[in-house]
Amino acid sequence: MAKIILTGDRPTGRLHVGHYAGSLKGRVELQNSGEYDKIFIMIADAQALTDNFDNPEKVRQNILEVALDYLSVGLDPAKSTLFIQSQISELTELTFFYMNLVTVSRLQRNPTVKSEIQMRNFEASIPVGFFCYPISQASDITAFKATTVPVGEDQLPMLEQTKEIVRTFNRIYGETLVEPDILLPKNKACLRLPGTDGKAKMSKSLGNCIYLADDEKTVEAKIKDMYTDPEHIRVTDPGHIEGNTVFTYLDAFSKPEHFAEYLPDYASLDELKEHYQKGGLGDVKIKKFLTKIMQEELAPIRARRKEYEKDIPAVYEILRKGSEAARAVAADTLSDVKKAMKIDYFADNELMKAQAEKYSDSQI
Ligand code: ATP
Ligand code: MG
Repeated sequence: MAKIILTGDRPTGRLHVGHYAGSLKGRVELQNSGEYDKIFIMIADAQALTDNFDNPEKVRQNILEVALDYLSVGLDPAKSTLFIQSQISELTELTFFYMNLVTVSRLQRNPTVKSEIQMRNFEASIPVGFFCYPISQASDITAFKATTVPVGEDQLPMLEQTKEIVRTFNRIYGETLVEPDILLPKNKACLRLPGTDGKAKMSKSLGNCIYLADDEKTVEAKIKDMYTDPEHIRVTDPGHIEGNTVFTYLDAFSKPEHFAEYLPDYASLDELKEHYQKGGLGDVKIKKFLTKIMQEELAPIRARRKEYEKDIPAVYEILRKGSEAARAVAADTLSDVKKAMKIDYFADNELMKAQAEKYSDSQI
């Protein structure tokens, strides 16, 4: 079976280092591994509109921002199809058919949607579109017959929902859809990178992000203000590393060679952690170290972004071409789905013949 990747991001803001650690970095590695037959990367504008329907301009503006972020991290349109979700109308048709296969109570149990509803104060009145977005995500994944979906941990419930839809569909209508597997980052700290404020998840909607496009000064200032251990007041105090954002980021981004280069007094991250826990290591020092690591990681991304910013029409052209190619693939799947569901009336000569015979029999 062909190995196919589908993943994407909502154009609700620029992409941040949480996206990078949780998904983008891995995507680029997968893209360059040459192990996949096709890679589809989607800007999920239709999904973004489910909770930003009253602010279409925000979504419209951020299409380009996300595209620039994609190209800056090294997603290559020659190897990956970059496209815009809303331009593939086949996806909404699939969603409509999949809705029959999911119950309201099943959607209500989705823990990611539950916490997102809370975050958006939707408790009293949830827009139906938002409530159903896990179903639309199943359409996105299955339309491209994706076998692998590289995403952050918060997407686990969406993948579970998709697998259920695939199984139910195939059981009722016959083997048609492909069951996908989630691909989570191997590094535990990258599964759900916390915000600079120490909150559980760095998220565009929470305003606690370091953006890939942030300049050097901004990155430095954000790390300077980063949440650490509130009980670590004096340098001599013993500190906690659990729930300490700086250490989570060091877990996510530091490499052994960074110590020799930027912090030669320590041989490894374990040694640094040990000293912090014992007391005698100040937050300023670990923050400066993290700043150097993040600047090293972000510098080539910033530089590539500057290059792509010089020719914006070319970026739109990449998205237009990608959307056209993606649409052809989704149309094939939709046609398989309609056939399986027996709603391909005009393409089915057998049906017409059989119905005609039935009526000719009854006229005798
Ligand atoms: P929004 O607040 O609009 O939902 P978001 O920051 O959660 O935005 P998404 O576009 O929903 O971003 O997520 C895109 C991808 O990035 C998903 O695969 C998601 O799992 C991953 N991701 C998002 N935030 C993080 C994070 N803090 N750590 C790891 N992965 C993340
Ligand atoms: Mg999200």
